[in-house]
Amino acid sequence: MRYISSRGDAPALSFDEVLLTGLARDGGLYVPESWPQFDAAALRDMASLSYVELAVRLTHPFIGEAIPESTYGDLVAKSYAGFDHDPIAPLRDLGDGVHLMELFHGPTLAFKDYALQLVGQLFDHVLTNRGERVTILGATSGDTGSAAIAGCAACPSVDVFMLHPKGRISDVQRCQMTTVAAPNVFNIAIEGDFDDCQDMVKTLFKDTAFRQDLHLSAANSINWARIMAQTVYYFSAALELGAPDKGVSFAVPTGNFGNVYAGYAARCMGLPIKRLVIGSNRNDILTRFFESGAMEVHEVTPSLSPSMDIQVSSNFERLLFDLFDRDGARVASAMKKFRKSGRLKLEEKLYRSACELFAACRLDDEGTLAAIAREYESTGTLLDPHSAIGVHAARQLGHASKANPVVALATAHPAKFPQAVEEACGVIPPAPAPLAGLADLPERFETLPADVNTVAAYMREHATVMNGGPEEETGEETVKETEKSSGKESGQSAEGAP
Ligand SMILES: *Cc1c(COP(=O)(O)O)cnc(C)c1O
Repeated sequence: MRYISSRGDAPALSFDEVLLTGLARDGGLYVPESWPQFDAAALRDMASLSYVELAVRLTHPFIGEAIPESTYGDLVAKSYAGFDHDPIAPLRDLGDGVHLMELFHGPTLAFKDYALQLVGQLFDHVLTNRGERVTILGATSGDTGSAAIAGCAACPSVDVFMLHPKGRISDVQRCQMTTVAAPNVFNIAIEGDFDDCQDMVKTLFKDTAFRQDLHLSAANSINWARIMAQTVYYFSAALELGAPDKGVSFAVPTGNFGNVYAGYAARCMGLPIKRLVIGSNRNDILTRFFESGAMEVHEVTPSLSPSMDIQVSSNFERLLFDLFDRDGARVASAMKKFRKSGRLKLEEKLYRSACELFAACRLDDEGTLAAIAREYESTGTLLDPHSAIGVHAARQLGHASKANPVVALATAHPAKFPQAVEEACGVIPPAPAPLAGLADLPERFETLPADVNTVAAYMREHATVMNGGPEEETGEETVKETEKSSGKESGQSAEGAP
């Protein structure tokens, strides 16, 4: 399988190159040259597979020669071995044709584990084979940091440096990162806010010498492997609800368009998905787009669902590429205009065709609390604020029934957001095993000022690549090539959202 850039002006890459590269050299996002196809007979054949078997069947075609299927099977099995539920992505019937897919059974209790556990395994496998190592750098104000750390902690070829704003993330979120004892994990509490962290990450990615010296890489949501891993649970839910003989719709709380784009990818692979409904919080760039056909940048305001507090939905560019008939030059010119003016208007015809599949709705904080309360009263289900927006979107779609099932994605465990849940319905969600006792574990983090030179010096001092790691001498050429192709905008996408 080869991957091409959405802006049409970067070299086509193999799977392992795409995994390590992130953003394409031309500033675009990589997509597969063609979609693996699964027809009705192939889908029927999958009905009895376990989640791990299903993942291998569906996603190995994306990897192709880069990793033999049996080796890949071992990596996938290892990725999901630590999940606390079998099946890995269980469905819960909420009545009236609405089903909740619980995507919070991984080690950090948010859906990002479903992708980042596998991405960690893939990084380690590919890097070990190439005799290379990378330094992952990111900024977080919530779930991404802990999921990336949990995914990479056991990967000897990877160091992770994660910046968080000191005192400005929840205790649960901080402890999920800082109690990880792995020697390749470096948490840095920055004396500043999330934007300070994000700005420093961007600056460091733009510093070519620093990027090359440290073999800098990112595990953010534009990484193709994350999308690939996320297609699997769309299949598992739809198969359970009667696909391919029944079409299924999905409601997805999303900010970066990452999770819902994985649903779109599943549909491109042959899954009969009827509608994809996007749920936004008050930072509603996607909902405004699907209401008007124009993408417009506004200021971000903090909400009860912080992992969707984003200004720009970076993965939307992948959909745009298909809407533009995979004309990369056209995407490049539209994105250039968008970057300049903060506005992108779609032609009426294309906008209408996008609306045949996608719908969107928004819910502010007040509505989110009401949705949590309503669901608790009517079905006894506790929802975190992100998941509540998904369930609201599912109910809003209006057509859910036994014949037309709608699956709402629960992207975080309610116990990750206990204050909001308690405020909404008076119940403190019981903490599952990965959270229980977390507060008693020793924490390990460095506190640094919001000064990029200090952070850079700290990283140079501690990164394994800078300290004569065994792989230093080998694979130098390939590393340079990879880093060149990560292009000047690498840092831009270091997760707009936490
Ligand atoms: C990251 C995150 C989201 C948003 O995911 P996208 O990548 O924007 O689709 C939603 N909910 C939770 C709990 C998250 O951690």
